[in-house]
Amino acid sequence: MRRYDNSGIASESRRRSFAMRRDRLIKQFAEARQRGRTPRLGKRTSNLFRVRPAPTRAERLDVTDFNHVIAVDPENRVAEVEGMTPYETLVDATLPHGLMPAVVPQLKSITVGGAVTGGGIESSSFRYGFVHETLQAVEVLTGEGRTVLARPDNEQRDLFYGFPNSYGTLGYALRLWIRLVPVRSYVRLTHAKAADPDSYFHDLAEACRKHRNRADGAAFMDGTAFGNHELYRTEGHFIDHAEAVSRYTFMKVYYHSIRRKDGDVLTTRDYIWRWDTDWFWCSRAFGMENPVLRFLAGSMGLLNSTTYWKLRDWNERGRLLQRIGLMPSVEWVIQDVEIPVEHAPRFLEFLNERIGIRPVWICPAQAFRTENVYPLYQTDPDVLYINFGFWGGVRSGHPPGHYNRLVEKEVARLGGKKSLYSTSFFTETEFWSHYNRDAYGRLKSRYDPEGAFPDLYEKCVAAYQSDTTEGEST
Ligand SMILES: Cc1cc2nc3c(=O)[nH]c(=O)nc-3n(C[C@H](O)[C@H](O)[C@H](O)COP(=O)(O)OP(=O)(O)OC[C@H]3O[C@@H](n4cnc5c(N)ncnc54)[C@H](O)[C@@H]3O)c2cc1C
Repeated sequence: MRRYDNSGIASESRRRSFAMRRDRLIKQFAEARQRGRTPRLGKRTSNLFRVRPAPTRAERLDVTDFNHVIAVDPENRVAEVEGMTPYETLVDATLPHGLMPAVVPQLKSITVGGAVTGGGIESSSFRYGFVHETLQAVEVLTGEGRTVLARPDNEQRDLFYGFPNSYGTLGYALRLWIRLVPVRSYVRLTHAKAADPDSYFHDLAEACRKHRNRADGAAFMDGTAFGNHELYRTEGHFIDHAEAVSRYTFMKVYYHSIRRKDGDVLTTRDYIWRWDTDWFWCSRAFGMENPVLRFLAGSMGLLNSTTYWKLRDWNERGRLLQRIGLMPSVEWVIQDVEIPVEHAPRFLEFLNERIGIRPVWICPAQAFRTENVYPLYQTDPDVLYINFGFWGGVRSGHPPGHYNRLVEKEVARLGGKKSLYSTSFFTETEFWSHYNRDAYGRLKSRYDPEGAFPDLYEKCVAAYQSDTTEGEST
């Protein structure tokens, strides 16, 4: 971890540097608009699974250097951070203060702006809710080509609450203030096995209820389903001392350990990134469970989600493996959905019977706030949701989107919510019945009246349907 200078002088100098880069970006934005272009984010990494054409030079807003932590305020437990900062950088700046962001998405390259706008979650979400609920304030470059500060208590509060799930269609977050929570040195894990989905989800809901508001309760809660009758609940408790710790950053694979061990201990940093080394389990598609390949890739520092995303993107662009016959024709079903816990057993059954992707990641999440205040991502604050993450290819002889459509319909039937970071096939009417057209329309006319950015449906659904590829820009 690089030493992070948190002195007032260093933070002030970082703020000045931010202001200069922000002014440069505003100029770039204006130039793109003058040429009649739609400005688009130019980043080096992404975790999107929607493919669109790469932007032209004239469209590309170069935000690659908006990746700094400006200040960590341990007293008020807030971090001030630039919008394209990967969570790995933010975590490394906060851990030396005995703090971490209240919710850290599992993949190191997910950026703070991307997770706040993309409905991020993780295993602390049963306590602290969604990533966007850890947001205290945000400075946004809007479609009008200027920046505004949005907070829950100022004139731009509509943007503060409307930003989550807007996916860059109202503006880009350039600077954010994120809530931090205290950590200890290690996380002790227990993996509890269950065979019956009904009792598994019942016990998971009970455990969340019991631990949620207790200072000495579990800090983390998630689960893994290897099938309909092989389910694990993993609880994580902070501890100060450990005699032995496991590491899953090289030859050992974390998800296998869940089946093999009842308990485990990891450093807090290794716990936070436990899923990144193998992109959950998706690295096996690239042969990373072969010890020789794993050793070689690990020695070169390539065991991480960024490498896999790039490999997958490269393959998808040319469909190379399909063309040379090394990969069958598959429909990618890469989705995260939230289902009310009472319907979770039914959804798991559906996944097993109709989609067949295994394992499945299970993550409980409940809104931190007691009122429903996020118009584009409405969840019932009294309900515990189960996030199901399933990422894989399904062999298909059906028209494109067949399996993804099945998922969309089942999620809607069970009163759930689907994340928009991946492919969607909703009709426009269906889409707006889920994502609040009226509230979006009001936000759009206030912050992007001339349509500098695409509309949410156009960006998340319609643009993909043209079946083209997206590069490093999102
Ligand atoms: C296999 C897989 C597993 C995942 N699992 C999880 C998970 O468990 N938990 C979780 O939280 N998320 C998960 N995600 C989803 C991820 O959090 C979202 O895709 C998130 O939006 C990605 O953020 P990014 O920083 O990589 O942004 P990008 O992928 O670059 O962009 C995502 C979208 O957000 C917009 N955007 C990016 N930055 C900004 C900004 N600063 N301001 C406004 N809009 C912006 C972009 O325009 C784009 O539409 C997963 C994704 C994959 C592929």
